[in-house]
Amino acid sequence: MKKETACNVSHGFRRAAIFILAFAISPNTYSAPKGLDIYFIDVEGGAATLIVTPQGESLLMDCGWKRDDLRDAKRIHDTASRLAGLKKIDYFVTSHFHTDHFGSLSQLVELIPIGKFYDHALMQESQEYDKKLYPEYLKVSEGKRQVLKAGDTIPLKSGKTPLKVICVVSDGRGIPTPVGVGAGVNLYCKDAPMKAEDESDNAKSIGLLVSYGDFEFLNLGDLTWNMEHQLVCPDNVLGKVDLYMVTHHGMNTSNNPVLVKTIQPTVSIMCNGARKAGFPESVALLKSLPSLKAAYQLHRNVQTSESENTDKALIANWDENCQGQFIKASVASNGKLYTVSIGEKGKPRKFPAE
Ligand SMILES: [Zn+2]
Repeated sequence: MKKETACNVSHGFRRAAIFILAFAISPNTYSAPKGLDIYFIDVEGGAATLIVTPQGESLLMDCGWKRDDLRDAKRIHDTASRLAGLKKIDYFVTSHFHTDHFGSLSQLVELIPIGKFYDHALMQESQEYDKKLYPEYLKVSEGKRQVLKAGDTIPLKSGKTPLKVICVVSDGRGIPTPVGVGAGVNLYCKDAPMKAEDESDNAKSIGLLVSYGDFEFLNLGDLTWNMEHQLVCPDNVLGKVDLYMVTHHGMNTSNNPVLVKTIQPTVSIMCNGARKAGFPESVALLKSLPSLKAAYQLHRNVQTSESENTDKALIANWDENCQGQFIKASVASNGKLYTVSIGEKGKPRKFPAE
């Protein structure tokens, strides 16, 4: 009896030790359930936003500039393949047909395949857009392109935590029915000023609202002032968002205060360049929001003062001659909180999804 007890104790102790050891020596065998990742790739004053879902699907909105050194195509490919482990990009959305948003596409498809292409319209010669690059777009997307209208969704698979990507604006038309939490009559609209009508393709930009559990992310491409007004006045159809990609690289022809105040973002990420956009009035507007906890910038605006930029710790690329560090948002698998970090080694900051 005595012997058996000792044996049981010893056996139990050994099992417990092996169990503890298994966790101690092989931390890689346990990995947290996958959530939603969003990479804001630095394309130096353009835009390239890569969304990777828990199911391993991917959506790239815009792809930066076309360059002889393939800088932007290579940065996107490196992020997609090496960091996100993707072998292909399932969906590509061209927010609008300006060079800094679809420039690198013909180079990118040589590095990684793309499944399907969305855009706001087939363009007419009389419209304003990049006419040199557009034929390349049509060639690359032939047989695989589709017009995305306000109200359409992109068919990414949803898991236990609901994931939805809805187009809230496209080709100058906003979604007519409210989609976000907190939508409704908007008191900020009273006396909100308008600007001269924008005839450029910026005003036709596609805007996407991504929701994952409680988390919401808004990317409106380069949408300009009056269209921004239309999305939130007289009724706010967008509701509140957690993460706001600062529209149009932080230009002052966009970021209409009536929209930015209405959506009450907790975190903003500005995809500006060292010498492109990142306007002081856009930075000041973001800093003034009671809801805002962190205003990130891909670049320091080297043409303005330090105080006209955001906090140094929230700027991904301080020097003009930089390595092109990205900013990454990672939403937990339950969609209840998210972290934002700079580059591969940056310390993540945690925020609740509301
Ligand atoms: Zn742009």
